[in-house]
Amino acid sequence: MRVELIPLPAFEDNYIWMLAREGEALVVDPGDAAPVLAALDRRGLRLAGILVTHHHGDHVGGLDALRPRLQGPVCAPAGERIPGPTVPLREGDTAALLGLEFQVLDVPGHTAGHIAYYWPGNAAGDPLLFCGDTLFSAGCGRLFEGTAAQMHASLSKLAALPGRTRVCCAHEYTLSNLRFALAVEPGNADAAGHRERCERLRARGEPTLPSTIELERRINPFMRCAEPAVVGAARAHDVALAPDPAAADVLAVLREWKNRFR
Ligand code: ZN
Ligand code: FE
Repeated sequence: MRVELIPLPAFEDNYIWMLAREGEALVVDPGDAAPVLAALDRRGLRLAGILVTHHHGDHVGGLDALRPRLQGPVCAPAGERIPGPTVPLREGDTAALLGLEFQVLDVPGHTAGHIAYYWPGNAAGDPLLFCGDTLFSAGCGRLFEGTAAQMHASLSKLAALPGRTRVCCAHEYTLSNLRFALAVEPGNADAAGHRERCERLRARGEPTLPSTIELERRINPFMRCAEPAVVGAARAHDVALAPDPAAADVLAVLREWKNRFR
C-alpha cells in the first residue's frame, strides 16, 4: 500500500510533514499540535510516531500537546535536548514506523545535533528525506550552532542520495531562496525555470515542496560550491576568498552574503 505525503502548513512558513499509510500516520517536527490534530481527525488516522530533526521551538512546540494521542515513539536527535521521553538517535540508527525503515543521518550545521531521516523507497513510493532546517529548496539553514565546513559536509551527504529522493524541508522559503540563487548564478536556466513554476504554485497557495535531490543539485547554490560560476560569484562578493578556494569556504561566503541579501 502506497504512502501518502501531506504537508501541513503551520505558523508563517513552516510545514509539518505527515506521512500516512493504512490508517496510521507519523508527523515530522510538530511545532504546533493544532494542525496535526485537525489532520488526524479529518482523515481518521492514528498517530503512530513523531520524528524530530532538531531542538528549535518551531519544530518541537507541539510535542507535549500531541503525547495524549501518540501511540508510538518520539524519535529525536541524541545530541540535543528535546522535551522527553524520546528515542535518541544518531547516524547509523534506524527508526521503524508505519512498516517503513528510516535511516538516520547526522547533518550538523544549523544546530550541532541536527539529524535527518531518509527512507530509501520501495514499491510503496519513491525515497523520502525529512531534512528539517538543514536543506531548503534552493537554500540551506542558517549556521546557528555549526560551521560552514559542517554544513558543507552535511549538504554533500544529502546531495549523494538518489536523485529522485523527495526532499521534505521544514520551511516554505523557496521563492526568496531562488531570488538569491539567481543573484549568485544569473545564467542558471534550471533555477529560472523553477522560479516560474514556484511563482505559479504560490499564487495558487500551493507548496513548492517536496523538491528532489536531483533538482537541488541543479539549482541550490549551497550544493554547488565547486561550480566555477558559483566560485566566481563568491569571489566577486568577497575579494578575500582565495583564488582556488575550498568548497566549505565558498559556502561560508554564500551564507554570509545570503544573511544580508534583501
Ligand atoms: Zn531551526
Ligand atoms: Fe525552523
